[in-house]
Amino acid sequence: MHSELEQLLILQDRQQKIRQILTEVKTLPLERAHLESQLAATAAGVESLKLKGRQVEVERKKLELDVGTRTESIARLKTQQYQTRKNDEFQAIGHEIERYENEVRKLEDQELELMIEADKLKAEIEAADKTAQATKESISRQLIYLETKSKALGARQQELETERESLASKIDADLLDQFERMFNSKGDAAIVAVEHGVCTGCHMKVTTATAARVKAGKEIVSCEQCGRILYLAAL
Ligand SMILES: [Zn+2]
Repeated sequence: MHSELEQLLILQDRQQKIRQILTEVKTLPLERAHLESQLAATAAGVESLKLKGRQVEVERKKLELDVGTRTESIARLKTQQYQTRKNDEFQAIGHEIERYENEVRKLEDQELELMIEADKLKAEIEAADKTAQATKESISRQLIYLETKSKALGARQQELETERESLASKIDADLLDQFERMFNSKGDAAIVAVEHGVCTGCHMKVTTATAARVKAGKEIVSCEQCGRILYLAAL
């Protein structure tokens, strides 16, 4: 094979690896953002349960106060009832006491329901906290992994770039230019094999003359269909 072609093939291999690394590097911020949003959602879930817990507690305290004021009213009314000498007034106060006592019972029932709910929420919060802690640990491990991966990819890219530059410096400037233009415009490869008379870049048959020139290996030959530089596949 044309010795410059061999060098170009190695150069192409390094450039393809660099391209792969860049593609992978591009996904890292997305992966990181995904993990961070998972983390935020978990924390928000726990926070909303805790908020609900606090709301129930506020409601329960309010009921407790309502019971307190009614209990005080009942005590006051009982004193009044004790002091009165009028029978009808005695009875009227008795009705009022009864009304307050009914209210107190209802309020206490509601309070009991809230206490049951508060207990349930407490258990839910504990479980959610535990899950959130595990999620947090798993995500921080994954974030560390991404960071390590990012550094490793960066180091590998640096290595390949250095190697690429040293290879490129040994290749004829015009040929390198032709290669670079083709490499950037094709997106896959600038230099491809001819197999059974077919260009493996565009999968079209090359002319017999082109095939013969590639086989001779004395010059740089391009595919007349796609323009990629051709070499003879070692079959
Ligand atoms: Zn072609």
